[in-house]
Amino acid sequence: MTATHTDTWRRYAVCADPDIDPDLFFPERGKNATKAKAICTTCPARQACLDAAMAEEADIGWRYGIRGGLSANERARLAGKRVVRPRPIVHGSPGGANAHYERGEKPCDICRVAWAEYRRTRRAQLTVVA
Ligand code: SF4
Ligand SMILES: [Zn+2]
Repeated sequence: MTATHTDTWRRYAVCADPDIDPDLFFPERGKNATKAKAICTTCPARQACLDAAMAEEADIGWRYGIRGGLSANERARLAGKRVVRPRPIVHGSPGGANAHYERGEKPCDICRVAWAEYRRTRRAQLTVVA
């Protein structure tokens, strides 16, 4: 296996969904990013996305836009006190699916089912808010 989880997380990126407006992740100055951040909270790739942003931006500087649920300012602050928080896996829950992804592994069957259900619910809620 040559691909690492640093490559594969992108497959699970919720913001890659063609139904999601990419501009949400680049709010105009002064507008808030609540909606994009809400989407990130539903994203199984969130931790990997954030890790990638932190690794990349530590070298090139903090980029405008929401990545891994955080704004550029928030990521810059995080860089000062980065903490790795391995979470216990509660199988059969959306959080369990996240915990699998955070470890760079695919979720087990019951976590995948729980995640799919959670995502459907969250998407329905986001649609109502819009
Ligand atoms: S955490 Fe947010 S920005 Fe990162 S892949 Fe998921 S939806 Fe996209
Ligand atoms: Zn599991």
